[in-house]
Amino acid sequence: MTGRELITGAQNTWCPGCGNFTIQHTLKTILAGMEKEGKSLDNVVLVSGIGCHAKIADYLNINSFYSLHGRTIPVATGLKLANPDLTVICCCGDGDCYAEGLDHLLFAAKRNIDITVIVHDNRVYGLTTGQYTPTSPLGYKGKSTPLGTAEYPVNPLELVLASGATYIARGYSKKMPQLESLIRGGISHRGFALIDVLQICATFFPAAGYYSERVYDLGDHDRSDFSKACLKMREWDYSGDAKIVLGVFYERKLPTFDEKMAVTPLPDEEREERIRTFLATRT
Ligand code: SF4
Repeated sequence: MTGRELITGAQNTWCPGCGNFTIQHTLKTILAGMEKEGKSLDNVVLVSGIGCHAKIADYLNINSFYSLHGRTIPVATGLKLANPDLTVICCCGDGDCYAEGLDHLLFAAKRNIDITVIVHDNRVYGLTTGQYTPTSPLGYKGKSTPLGTAEYPVNPLELVLASGATYIARGYSKKMPQLESLIRGGISHRGFALIDVLQICATFFPAAGYYSERVYDLGDHDRSDFSKACLKMREWDYSGDAKIVLGVFYERKLPTFDEKMAVTPLPDEEREERIRTFLATRT
């Protein structure tokens, strides 16, 4: 199917001003571009988790899998292994991916499975009205921490760098052209790609002023330099007043898990015969 309308008719229930709109429209632009370049969108699958971000599976008119909380990555891994021709994109939340799904994230990075993970990092559980997540800043006051969190946030970029991810970037939902280039780069990269998107939650973490004063573009640099990427990632620790780097921190070409696991499919007749034989042993 080509020339499809990429936004569905589903009622959109995101709050006005939510950064999810930017991510949705960025993906729409990228998908339309892929189709123009001759790629069939029938071979693209979007996997979402649970949270405000996950509604994107209802709003974008492509194949999608609305998975469980924290389980976007295992679903995406299964899809990619079953059909390596698919382009598999995960949209997850920060609570979804950096809390419940953290082990899946680290192992997917370690395996270098060829999927693209876009984290809608609004740094709060928005759908459940504002509890703190692993990237909420120290002292964040929400429903579960009325006096402020007593925990330091994690730096997810450092975590995936240490785990083996081969494309790591950070974008911002108010910098749409750059975000488009970061996500496009992640999708065309062969290997595990993570794009952490500082996504404005207009209702529970309206941090646009804070981000807009601090963000700057990393620009051109040697993306294969692990140590420099790590230093750049550490400039801002998801708290405090430091400047916030946006861009691609790290990129490297390595064999992917799906390439290493690839098996030549059996001819249809032989596969059916094997299934018949297997089933016969069960009766
Ligand atoms: Fe967006 Fe926050 Fe509203 Fe959820 S609660 S839809 S993240 S603004």
